[in-house]
Amino acid sequence: MQVLSVASEVFPLVKTGGLADVAGALPGALAPHGVTMRTLMPGYPAVMRAIEGAKVVGGFPNLFGAPASILAVDHKGLDLLVLDAPHLYDRDGGPYMDRAGRDYPDNFRRFAGLSLAAAEIAGGDVIDWKPDIVHVHDWQAALTPVYMRFGAAHQTPSVLTIHNIAFQGLFGPNVFPELALPPEAFSVDYVEYYGNVSFMKGGLKTAWAVTTVSPSYAQEILTPEFGMGLEGLLAARLSTLHGIVNGIDTDIWNPQTDANLKTTYGPSGIKKREANRQALSARFGFDLTPGPIFCVVSRLTLQKGMDVLAEVIDDLVEAGGKLAVLGSGDQVLEAAFLSAAARHPGRVGIVIGYDEPLSHLMQAGSDAILIPSRFEPCGLTQLYGLRYGCVPVVARTGGLADTIIDANEAALAAGVATGFQFSPVTADGLRQALRRVFALYHDTKAWNRMQVQGMKSDVSWDLSAGRYATLYSRLLAKG
Ligand code: ADP
Repeated sequence: MQVLSVASEVFPLVKTGGLADVAGALPGALAPHGVTMRTLMPGYPAVMRAIEGAKVVGGFPNLFGAPASILAVDHKGLDLLVLDAPHLYDRDGGPYMDRAGRDYPDNFRRFAGLSLAAAEIAGGDVIDWKPDIVHVHDWQAALTPVYMRFGAAHQTPSVLTIHNIAFQGLFGPNVFPELALPPEAFSVDYVEYYGNVSFMKGGLKTAWAVTTVSPSYAQEILTPEFGMGLEGLLAARLSTLHGIVNGIDTDIWNPQTDANLKTTYGPSGIKKREANRQALSARFGFDLTPGPIFCVVSRLTLQKGMDVLAEVIDDLVEAGGKLAVLGSGDQVLEAAFLSAAARHPGRVGIVIGYDEPLSHLMQAGSDAILIPSRFEPCGLTQLYGLRYGCVPVVARTGGLADTIIDANEAALAAGVATGFQFSPVTADGLRQALRRVFALYHDTKAWNRMQVQGMKSDVSWDLSAGRYATLYSRLLAKG
């Protein structure tokens, strides 16, 4: 089965969040299921540098204003198709925003370009290859099935995966004439959304199947609280909506081989985590007082509940804990963590920025990872935490609820607990969870048992890749 995957970020080339990890891991995870996946992504400057020497295999004389080519290359096990379109992607800043953190004003064109290129490839006339299925990710690729509907690939099955429905690619009606869609596409059945243009809505309406990244989130987005206005539309697609939980790349995230750690270790050697703990403590300038080290590796945003965490830092320190934060995001939240670090030298530290190697050491050197998200489609850092013996303390929502077994009495007695869940996401909710964490942390035997249980849980792609493969087969049988 030949599948074209379309994503705006792909690890290890470009990553701003979990989408990149998933897009980067899926091809390898699907290969044992008889699926050959090629991945189409934009040719941002970092990508073009990394794939120097790649071959041109096709192109477009005019893709929204200038010529563009498709380059093909094998890169670190990925079979990549790169859309080389300098007028769209040769920019100074990140994939979506300029250096000052402002969205590029032509993002609609940049990602319509990605989607149109994907649809044309699917039509079979652009490169010497044609997929059986097209699998697109998030709003940036969500126009692909819309273009397919009106083009040569209208009989090719498509899947849209929602990694976060909060980001919908919503633009004013003035962009519509520039999208190269027929006039009827500006209607309730396609991209029109309360008078505006919504890329995500267009995808939800036209993809043959819609998936999201955990079963709980698949339920939650049917409600007004989490559906962000698209809940009615999703309800109408219930029979084709699937929640398939993300896995992680267990080669890249393997504490037994991870070169970013001070010491590698496995479930039978968790005492060796101590060397990583010391390295992390040195990095964050922690004093040597006993007590658990909590970490955060996250975008610093309200979605991630970082304001709630900021409110309880003083209590966490008072109770004998330390907090190491790696992240960036809202300036107000960055300032709150900086001020907490200034109030609690030796106890609270923050590294503002994006640091992949440090994110590995955080998991290996902390005792627990805090994830108080208000909503969380799947979440990956709790899965890394499980794998590294860094106990996840998570809000009971979305993929966090699906992947962590709460340390309640019954689960502890049965030896199946892997972390702590709490709700509601309020300062008091988190304080109560922390009280439970501290109590168990002081019972070293029980704590270690929970760490080992987490390390042994299956966080690989095996099961979920099988689910995607089954879905593809079903769609092919239908088409
Ligand atoms: P989201 O995609 O909503 O940001 P996920 O938990 O799904 O959240 O994925 C976040 C990914 O980004 C994880 O791989 C996490 O380790 C990584 N990450 C987040 N912030 C940082 C950071 N500051 N430095 C390094 N990695 C980070």
